[in-house]
Amino acid sequence: MPNHTPECYLLTGGAGYIGSHSTLALMQAGHQVLVLDNLCNSSPISLDRLGQLAGRAPLFVQGDVRDAALLEQVFASHRISAVLHFAGLKAVGESVQQPLAYFDNNVAGTISLCKAMAQAGVFKLVFSSSATVYGEPETMPIHESTPTGRPTNPYGRSKLMAEEVLRDLAASDPRWRVAVLRYFNPVGAHESGLIGEDPHGIPNNLLPYIAQVAGGKLAELAVFGNDYPTPDGTGVRDYIHVQDLAQGHLKALQALQTRTGLNVWNLGTGQGYSVLEMLRAFEAASGRQIPYRIAPRRPGDIARCWADASKAKIELGWQCKLGLAEMMRDAWRWQVQSPNGYA
Ligand code: NAD
Ligand code: UDP
Repeated sequence: MPNHTPECYLLTGGAGYIGSHSTLALMQAGHQVLVLDNLCNSSPISLDRLGQLAGRAPLFVQGDVRDAALLEQVFASHRISAVLHFAGLKAVGESVQQPLAYFDNNVAGTISLCKAMAQAGVFKLVFSSSATVYGEPETMPIHESTPTGRPTNPYGRSKLMAEEVLRDLAASDPRWRVAVLRYFNPVGAHESGLIGEDPHGIPNNLLPYIAQVAGGKLAELAVFGNDYPTPDGTGVRDYIHVQDLAQGHLKALQALQTRTGLNVWNLGTGQGYSVLEMLRAFEAASGRQIPYRIAPRRPGDIARCWADASKAKIELGWQCKLGLAEMMRDAWRWQVQSPNGYA
């Protein structure tokens, strides 16, 4: 029987941090979005907020990407033109404690999704990968031609494995069109302050931690190492505004109209900032002083990491528009408006 429902994009993990911003960007560009999320690390309130911002809520199915029967039903009852696969676990420390959960969600989850896609005849996929797959390259910036390295933890290895699965899949059948997006360090929030990053417990990542110190929830920032071979000794990363990242997904979807096989794009700004530079920028945006102490290096951390963002600029026509000041302003607004996240 022909399916007369409107065409939509399926966003796995669409209730999460990057997924919710991308859902909004797609809806605001006029697309229908179906979110599939098991809510293991997100709140349904984010979807209500998307409804407020976009004027209509995305379609939502609560469930797991490893549930083959559910996926079959989802693909049978919607006309899905492409899938953006955000769903997965992402806490580096937790991945060391629970490697099986990470390989199961991130690798087996990707396999389960691709099987269901192939069965349903849907072959366009945008995959959330990470700069962590490069390991610790000797030269900066990191170009897509930089060989992947050995990620320092099970989370990173699960992302690299999922990429390898997708590479073999794309090589096996010319119908597949896969965009592997390697994110650098996503930060910030939507400018409304209605959606943002909502880490459970004490944040692992720098920006949410700094925001909670500025907001008075945490006493001080521990700066993990000041003896790295960087200008001020602290770790350097390429922080990218989540709104720019969301736009990168729209551009990747457009590219899949014409590009076949598997393509990899770095999504970063091309500019690195140190931990202390981030701290000073957040102080400027928030008007708050942020106490800190120098602590030992965090095991597994690399000294520096920033993107060569030229391939995405040339091939996708995408580049970041928002700078450090906007990242800090929006992270601070989200912190002030929602000090307890979606709780
Ligand atoms: P997030 O935890 O906020 O979002 C992930 C979403 O997926 C959550 O809503 C969670 O409930 C859902 N989910 C997890 N496992 C699932 C499963 N088995 N079935 C269905 N839903 C499931 O994380 P995020 O920061 O938005 O990251 C999105 C993607 O981007 C992840 O794949 C992550 O690995 C990748 N990534 C994130 C970063 C980062 O720093 N945030 C950097 C590089 C790559
Ligand atoms: N960092 C820090 N204190 C924290 C959290 C992070 O000094 O409480 C540093 C970390 O060592 C790295 C940078 O901030 O140099 C970014 O860390 P994050 O965990 O946000 O991202 P990733 O390690 O994935 O790049």
